[in-house]
This record gives sequence, C-alpha cells and structure tokens, in this order.
Amino acid sequence: MKYAVRNPRNGQIDYYFDLPSAQQLQQSVDRLRQHQPSWQQLPLSERIAAMQAWKAALEKHQSALIEALTLDTGRRHESVLEAQLIGQSIDRWCRLAEAFFEPAADKVSAIPFIHIRQDLQPIPVVGVISPWNFPLLLGLIDTLPALLAGCSVVVKPSEITPRFIEPLMDAVREVPLLSEVLLFLAGDGNTGAQLVDLVDLVCFTGSVATGRRVYAACAARFIPCFLELGGKDPALVFEGANLEHAAASILWGSTVNCGQSCLSIERVYVQETILQDFLEKLKERAERVKLAFPTPEDGQIGPVISERQVHIINDHLSDALAKGAHVLTGNTCCEQRNGGWYCRPTVLTGVDHTMKVMTEETFGPIIPVMPFRTEAEAIQLANGTIYGLSAAVFAHDWETALRIGQHIEAGAISINECALTALVHEGEKQSFKMSGIGGTRMGPSAIKRFMRQRAFLIKKEPILSPWWF
Ligand code: NAD
Repeated sequence: MKYAVRNPRNGQIDYYFDLPSAQQLQQSVDRLRQHQPSWQQLPLSERIAAMQAWKAALEKHQSALIEALTLDTGRRHESVLEAQLIGQSIDRWCRLAEAFFEPAADKVSAIPFIHIRQDLQPIPVVGVISPWNFPLLLGLIDTLPALLAGCSVVVKPSEITPRFIEPLMDAVREVPLLSEVLLFLAGDGNTGAQLVDLVDLVCFTGSVATGRRVYAACAARFIPCFLELGGKDPALVFEGANLEHAAASILWGSTVNCGQSCLSIERVYVQETILQDFLEKLKERAERVKLAFPTPEDGQIGPVISERQVHIINDHLSDALAKGAHVLTGNTCCEQRNGGWYCRPTVLTGVDHTMKVMTEETFGPIIPVMPFRTEAEAIQLANGTIYGLSAAVFAHDWETALRIGQHIEAGAISINECALTALVHEGEKQSFKMSGIGGTRMGPSAIKRFMRQRAFLIKKEPILSPWWF
C-alpha cells in the first residue's frame, strides 16, 4: 500500500512510499538479528572504522540529503545544519565509545577470595521510532551509540518526513558491514506499532500520547523502553538580568525551527519590575525575524511542517485570545501562503495558566509572557506543568541563576542562555515527569542503555567456602 506525503511548503502531495507488509518487516528484523552477533564480536576499532566509512559516505551524499530534508521539512538552514552535524556526532560517539569500552580490572568482592569481572552484552535488535521535527538528528541520536555498543538498529522515522531515508540508505549501503546491521525504513504509526513487537529494546521520541501506547506495548513484552517526549519549557527572567541578551536568547529558543522543537521555550515568566522593558526588546527583535518565504532562503522561520500542528497552534491562540490574551506582535492564527502554513514569531501578553498556550505543548513560534513578583512565585509557575524536559533561567549573575534553577523540576536547565541541549551534547540528563523515562541519551553512560550488565563471580583459589554444609 502506498502512503502519500504532503509537501509543507505548498501543501501538495508530491511523494509516495510503500508501507511495509508485516512479512517484510519481520524479514527485515530477522536479517538484522542474524547479522548482529558478528557485528558485536568485531573489535570496537572495526565498528569505529565502519562508522567512519559511513561518515565519509554521508559527506558524499550530503547535498542529496540536504535536498531531501528541505523537501521533508520546508526549511533549509536547519536541514543544512542537521546534515553537517552528523560527522561531528559520529566522531563524538566514536571517542566516547573508546573511553567507555576501556577494559576494567577484576574487582575483589566483600568476600576476599571471590573476584568480580563485569561484562556488557549488547541488546541484539534496537528499534528507534522518531518524529518529524528534526528527522535526521532524531533518527540518529540513539542509533549511533546503539551501533557502537554492538547492537543492530532499525529506525522508523515519521511518515510526515520520509524523503531523507533514500539518500541516507544510499550512504549506508556503501558500507557493507554497516548495511547488515542498520536499516532506516519508511512507515506510519501502524508500522511503528508492529516494530515494537519485533525488537528487543525501543527508543521512542515523540508525543506523550503515542509514548504511552509504546510504553504499554513494551511492558507487555517485558522489553526495555526509553521515551523522549514533549515539553513545555519555561524561561525565567529576573531583575538584574541582561535584558538584551535574555530577549535575543528567548526569541531564538522559542522560534528556531518555527518552534517545532521539544526543547523550545514555550512559556516566559518575567519579574514584574522589568516586564515592560523586556517586552519592548522582545517585540523589536521578533519583528526583525522574517518568514522563510517565498523561498527557504528568504528568512528564518520556515513553514509549519505537520498540518495537524497547524490546528493545535490555532487552537492555542484562539483559546488564549478568547480568555483575554493580547497579541503584542505576530499572528492571531497560522497564515496560508502558496499552500504552506506559516506563523510569525508571536508574542502574547495577558496570559495565565487557565490557557492551553501556558499548559499544553504548542510546538509553534509562540512566546507567551507572564509577569511574576517573587522568586518563589516564579519557581511555582515554572513547575506548574505536567512536563519536565528543560528550562532556562536569566539573572544578574550565573550563580544566582543556577541557585534558582536548582528548584526547577526538569532534566536540563540552561543558565543565562536558552535551549542549550540543542547545542551541548555532553551533559548527562534525564527527562522529568511526563517528558520521558529512561537513562540519559547524552554523554558516555548513554551507551550503557543498549547493553545488559553481566557479572562473573569468580573463585580463583581452591579454598573451602565457610558457608558450605
Ligand atoms: P508522534 O507521537 O505523533 O509520532 C512519533 C513517531 O511515532 C512517528 O514515527 C509515528 O509514526 C510513530 N507512531 C505513531 N503511532 C505509533 C504507535 N502506536 N506505535 C509506535 N509508533 C507509533 O509525534 P510527532 O508528532 O511525530 O512528534 C512531535 C512530538 O515529539 C512532540 O510532542 C515533541 O515534543 C516530541 N519530541 C520530543 C523530543 C525529545 O527529545 N524529548 C524531541 C523531538 C520531539
């Protein structure tokens, strides 16, 4: 059966892919499972060499990859970044894997004549299910450490952005060793659900609603499942903060990639005494940002990628306006241009927590700004959410911002900056509350998520054990 894909810039259906049958899926996973043991048995240096060969192949296919990603998402600048950053990610994971797999000496246990040797066994087949907002980056983020751990990996990207799979798989096929253990395949939600039933571990990035279904399916099979879900990240701005920097950073953090980022700033709380000053600066900067229309090179804000998201953004805007919010600058709803849907950076004032725009994930370039009086009130507002992905705090100095940030229930807190997890990949972090579950996907211990720990308990000397009958 063919799946029809919409182009986000013009609304036309201009790409089709074949949905895999249950039998094709089973055969694909069987093939990965069959080749995984020899991949696992390779010395790490050979897995690294295969990854480096893939990096070279990806560089060769880079322009095709960028073209496909641009068609998938309607934005070019971020597509170029996604494609260019793969090489750095591969290098970083290769370095981390080298350090991670350093052989460790046997340890003596609490019983002096019993030694312990630790061992790590890769999970044979890892399933990665990813969303449409950063198709390449999020398809690879768990895939690279899993491959280096010695797993085979099947990736099912979003059906909304499948075009990049073809050039990516062209690069995979140039590295025969890797093509035996890595497969990106196009499919829809049903394909994802079927995949969950075939693999040994699931890394899911997407919405809370789907994450809940995936988690339940994994629980029924007793397989590990890592969820990276939605967010409603707050930024807190305190008196004494550099307001030019705060406004510039928050504007970027909430509107880059058209706000379609899990770690977008979706709520801004500003100390009452500096509110007007901050709003003036934010408005002035927001009005300088342009829609990337008519071509992707014309501005910074591309189209809303998923049509379903247009309805959510419009719903949040109309709900806020009906409850008394005011548009300081921007749109009252998404605007259609040449068949694509666009939304300007939109600053809302007069907002509160009765509005969806302050409590539910909007995933658009909307910046609702709400005043607070005291530090305690700011922290309470920041934590007044079901989500706990990340946050940002701006204050006079980094020590003050850090002290306040320590009260925020989220996995990554940017201090005097926004959304730094988009750029800094070394900090180990976990999602709080409904933003996800599982170990960190960043930093060296991310590799351990793809391995089972085994302990060999060794009696090296022929000694009479005192516990024997
Ligand atoms: P989604 O949940 O609709 O879909 C995500 C993926 O799940 C897609 O590949 C889809 O085909 C698949 N899927 C759908 N139903 C399935 C099922 N029953 N079983 C298995 N797979 C199924 O999410 P989306 O709209 O593509 O992505 C946007 C969401 O992703 C937002 O909530 C955003 O915050 C979140 N996100 C989170 C992170 C993070 O790191 N925490 C990063 C990016 C995006």
